[in-house]
Amino acid sequence: MNLGTVRHRLHNDFQLAILTLLGSLAVLSITPFAIYRAIDHEWVPFVMDVGIIAVISGGLWYAWRSGDSERPSTILSYFVGVMAIVASHVLGKQGTYWIYPALIANFFLTQRKHALIIAAAVLALIMATGGWHRETHEAASFAVTLILSVLLAYVFAYRTAEQREQLQRLASLDALTGIHNRRGLLRELERARRILARDGRAHGLLILDLDHFKQINDRFGHARGDEVLIRFARLLANSLRPHDRLFRYGGEEFVVLTQAEDAGTLRAIAEKLRLAAENGLDDGHGQAVTTSIGGAILRTDESIETWLARADGALYLAKHGGRNRVVIDTEAGKEAPAGI
Ligand code: GH3
Ligand code: MG
Ligand code: MG
Repeated sequence: MNLGTVRHRLHNDFQLAILTLLGSLAVLSITPFAIYRAIDHEWVPFVMDVGIIAVISGGLWYAWRSGDSERPSTILSYFVGVMAIVASHVLGKQGTYWIYPALIANFFLTQRKHALIIAAAVLALIMATGGWHRETHEAASFAVTLILSVLLAYVFAYRTAEQREQLQRLASLDALTGIHNRRGLLRELERARRILARDGRAHGLLILDLDHFKQINDRFGHARGDEVLIRFARLLANSLRPHDRLFRYGGEEFVVLTQAEDAGTLRAIAEKLRLAAENGLDDGHGQAVTTSIGGAILRTDESIETWLARADGALYLAKHGGRNRVVIDTEAGKEAPAGI
């Protein structure tokens, strides 16, 4: 694995990056202690340190090799909990200092619910069985400061997760129409491919492009063009079935992803949308705004690029066939419905 691949994987897999950062930090900070224990012939803490380093390194190795960073992260977070209890018993008061970073690190490693449960269990077990805190006020200080640290980590993890979700939602929505954008589309197309490979259920794809849209901008201004786009998105959303997905592909082009499994069904859906625009969309001056539509049913082992390209090719034919029409790409070629 070269440096470029490592950088790419760290950049694209947040969980792997966190696991690598925390794992490396833990290994780097525990190794000097292991050496120090060996020099001092303190064999129990030495074995414990070496065991921790081995388990963390094993988790890192597994995550990098398999590409699955969730599982080793969760396992490591429980391991951290167990080791926190062991450390407090073997190292006494000294071990306590390690409990704080360990339990806080868990909020980065695993779901905050798990991290909270682990922290509560660790605290309860140490309080119930720990022998180092002879003084009541010392035990109380330990419990209160640990609870505070864990609660702060919980709140921080909660806010971070919420902001990440919000950013992801915003990044996949189109600012003008409020429907999903191209980023959301690519994710859904990949999902459609997986469903076809797994269950044999195909999806249909429609690309809709408004006819002579530039003229609306030119004649009535960009703001009017925007209004038409918003109304078109609303009209499409109202005409679709609950399982269908609508996206703004870019400019005045939209995409519909539907569960239609054959060209006939896809064409019927496309015709309904074409008619909805013809009868329900105008430029604000009584002139109907129409749409041309190209469609394709996903084929087995086809890439999403090819699928999109076939639908785009069909759209091109619909435009060149006179606009305000539907063309579906089929095995037999590009078919427009009879009569148009
Ligand atoms: P055709 O029938 O061949 O599709 O003609 P057209 O005029 O619709 O297509 P063309 O690609 O020539 O023009 C598309 C226009 O859409 C050009 C661009 O300025 C406009 N456009 C793209 N995005 C937006 C937008 O967000 N708002 C507005 N108002 N116009 C947009
Ligand atoms: Mg266009
Ligand atoms: Mg157009």
